[in-house]
Amino acid sequence: MIDRVTDHRSLPRISTSLVVKAVLAVYWTRLGSLNALALTRTAKFWKSWLDGPLCSADSLGRIVASLEADPLRQGIHHVYDRLKRNKALPDLHGLGVAVLDGHETSASYRRCCAGCLKRTTSSGQMHFYHRNVTLMLLCGSPPDRPAVRLLLDLEPLQPGEGELAPALRLLERVLAAYPRAFDLVLADAYYAVAPFLNFLWEHGKQVLVVLKDERRDAYEDAAGLWAQQPPQLGSYDSRSCRWWDVPDLLSWPEVQGAIRVVRSEESWTVKPQLTKEVTPQTTSWVWLTTLSVAQARTEQVVRLAHLRWDIENHGFNELVNGWHAGHVYRHHSGAIECFLLLAFLAYNIFHAFFALNLKPAVRRGRTMEFVVRLIATEIHVIPRLCPTAAPP
Ligand SMILES: [Zn+2]
Repeated sequence: MIDRVTDHRSLPRISTSLVVKAVLAVYWTRLGSLNALALTRTAKFWKSWLDGPLCSADSLGRIVASLEADPLRQGIHHVYDRLKRNKALPDLHGLGVAVLDGHETSASYRRCCAGCLKRTTSSGQMHFYHRNVTLMLLCGSPPDRPAVRLLLDLEPLQPGEGELAPALRLLERVLAAYPRAFDLVLADAYYAVAPFLNFLWEHGKQVLVVLKDERRDAYEDAAGLWAQQPPQLGSYDSRSCRWWDVPDLLSWPEVQGAIRVVRSEESWTVKPQLTKEVTPQTTSWVWLTTLSVAQARTEQVVRLAHLRWDIENHGFNELVNGWHAGHVYRHHSGAIECFLLLAFLAYNIFHAFFALNLKPAVRRGRTMEFVVRLIATEIHVIPRLCPTAAPP
């Protein structure tokens, strides 16, 4: 898979595979910078992992900026394919589920590149940033092992465009490469728009998105109906819920097919450390979906809808805080995209390794953080910390 990665250099002195392997190791060891990697150059590990000496931080950044993104995407697909064939990616509540969301990966007032997006802050300062739309595959798991989630692909926002256009480009590419990987796409309220719903409907996929009251027709029609409907009582996690389910709404003529609106009022209690008083909490959600009642009961819709947060909690937050994927290793739009795709590849392989390769007995009582430190130890075993000869 790594040998198939290519770049745009005409007479390369350093092999592309060496760079790809070195960057994957930066992520697996969570080093957070290419300069930190350069400090480990004399580690024994590199001799067995790379087919040559480790190059400088500057060369690594420059070569990643010239990498072709497509072979990296094919690498991610290869990992998915192997896991799928080994039946390691079971459905969730009977459905293949993916979640889509936009994420800002880096922002700066001082540094910019040709691919930077720009916005003016309230104080009149120009802010430069990079943002992309990402798709994550969510999978079920037996009770004795953690679930595997795969970061499938990303599409950067181009200057001047909103999230919808890159989201549709991303889905177009992912649906061609992974036609049967998922049946349902989860997304936030931004995506409760007719072009998004129709695009997935035309590709035979279902949608489940948050519905806010801006979509007045569908929302008001559903609100009118749930006012006359007694709620179903249920639970989600430790929350008691009241659910209203309004299928077959035809109040949004721009949308192809019937839509369904599900509302969940959820209540639970918390005991803050400071006051130690039991305090009731409530929240209310409204979702719009193209899933029929036969495809998913109300309870399933609620459970699936709450999985939308997985891309924030297990994707973006973990990538930024655990994997240093928000760090700008080289400020160049091509490099930012390829570093992120390499981070996705490292993330997918690590999680598959942790959940599926480690024996439950080895995993028991050990956190993921422990395994990360064990991996990092490998590149900190340096034969001679002081290479200078002793004075005569
Ligand atoms: Zn930039």
